[in-house]
Amino acid sequence: MSERAQHHQVLVLGAGIAGVAATHFLKENGVTDVVILEASHRIGGRINTVEFGKTSTGDKALVELGANWIHGRAHNPVYHRALESGLLEPLVLLDRMDGYYYTEEGRCLSKELGEKLWRQFNAFEKETGIYFDQNIETSSTMAEYFTERLNDFIAQFSADDRSDLQLMANTMLNYLSFHIGDNLKFISLQYDGSYEDIPGGEVKIPKGFLEVVKTFTTDFDTDTVKFGTTVTNIDWDQSKQGLHPVKVSCSLVGGEEKTYTCDHLIVTCSLGVLKKAVKDVTLFRPQLPVDKQKSISRLGFGKVNKIFLYYEKPFWKPGCASVKLAWSSKYSDVDEKKEWYKRIFSFDEVMDNPSVLVAWISTSAAHHMEQLPEAEVSKTCTAILRQFLNNPDVPEPTSISRSTWCCNPLTLGSYSYINMDSTPADFNTIADPLFSKDGKPIVQFAGEATHPRWNSTTHGALDSARREADRLTKFFTNQKV
Ligand SMILES: Cc1cc2nc3c(=O)[nH]c(=O)nc-3n(C[C@H](O)[C@H](O)[C@H](O)COP(=O)(O)OP(=O)(O)OC[C@H]3O[C@@H](n4cnc5c(N)ncnc54)[C@H](O)[C@@H]3O)c2cc1C
Repeated sequence: MSERAQHHQVLVLGAGIAGVAATHFLKENGVTDVVILEASHRIGGRINTVEFGKTSTGDKALVELGANWIHGRAHNPVYHRALESGLLEPLVLLDRMDGYYYTEEGRCLSKELGEKLWRQFNAFEKETGIYFDQNIETSSTMAEYFTERLNDFIAQFSADDRSDLQLMANTMLNYLSFHIGDNLKFISLQYDGSYEDIPGGEVKIPKGFLEVVKTFTTDFDTDTVKFGTTVTNIDWDQSKQGLHPVKVSCSLVGGEEKTYTCDHLIVTCSLGVLKKAVKDVTLFRPQLPVDKQKSISRLGFGKVNKIFLYYEKPFWKPGCASVKLAWSSKYSDVDEKKEWYKRIFSFDEVMDNPSVLVAWISTSAAHHMEQLPEAEVSKTCTAILRQFLNNPDVPEPTSISRSTWCCNPLTLGSYSYINMDSTPADFNTIADPLFSKDGKPIVQFAGEATHPRWNSTTHGALDSARREADRLTKFFTNQKV
């Protein structure tokens, strides 16, 4: 061991909600020597509330580059944390029916027809559950399922309504791609029902999602999180040499290197980062067990982004809520590189930020968008708004801000999903700890992609943090007996 190695009982890789909450739960359980190694200079990971735009009183306003909504209330641990911390006053629920559908010719479509289709679309989405719940075998993708169900439904309407409904169906398929994280042709119908929807609607946190993460840091010391510390190597088989079980090598900002040792490590980096480690044979030495590597490689990791447009003088009527884009191209026909913008499904108003619109985009189109010059993205958004609103006077935004989750080396994508090659069991395999020869959990895994029912979400990440903190606390308790 290098003389400069610093030892801690527990190290945590990553200060996203899973890493920060796991540290807090351990401290709450009396495990005090816990340190987080975080490559960036902030907490939150894929929860990233930043200042952009201004409020109606001229103060700096907020936007969410990552997580936006608490998905459901009932037994959602993020909802309860936010509620107990007084972060949900007033209670703001999302209504996806708000707004209007517009066509490429600038025609505003019937709201009533849109609502009819949206209700049916939701019913179809709920019905996907039967394949998993009742173990009915299917090899269909979500794209095939929805195309067939929507076509059957739309066929019952008059010819005029049919063509409008088809256009609105394209918006809904683009929305669902964003929600699940990727092109629906990659997503398994068989296992869609393994994700547990929590009832209670979509809840917004008025002061920003990051406030929830901060509630877990109130018992942290100033150096509980080592920022600017990128973990480059995890030697997890040290014990046979009579050393501390895990040696963690890090590179610091400025190129300096630092080594830590610990008895237990909790890894919370994204599935995208784990995938790269497996592909490039990096990060873990020895490599992870083969079944874990296979699960990491198999599962899908999505591509989702947001584009925020700020206007010195907003051109829309406050309260218009949402301009939904009813593209005429069939969902399956879109060239996601050349026509990346056809995966934007709407431009929405942002709460308490009256001069900003947000565009939502997913699939490889979202990845492509990140790599374009900002001016091109801005121009394209303006052209779309002018076309769909049939208003050549829509101005260029004063400034834009966009997320870049796919190119960011600390995420390499947005959130996990079950693709055609994987099953929910892959989440459990990723979650399995690595044990020392004498049965100690020396490397544990938390984060959204380790949760088989709530993968992809902040509550999945939080629940996995509780799981791993409890696993370790139980281990320490048994040691003492
Ligand atoms: C655009 C978008 C919208 C979303 N919307 C919602 C939503 O509305 N509701 C919802 O519930 N969820 C949403 N999610 C998902 C949610 O944000 C994530 O599931 C959750 O935040 C993941 O938390 P985590 O702690 O598992 O991982 P992360 O937040 O990714 O944390 C991992 C941390 O590890 C760090 N790290 C990575 N590699 C290293 C390294 N080598 N060394 C040191 N540190 C490293 C990273 O910097 C990061 O801080 C959204 C995600 C995105 C991208």
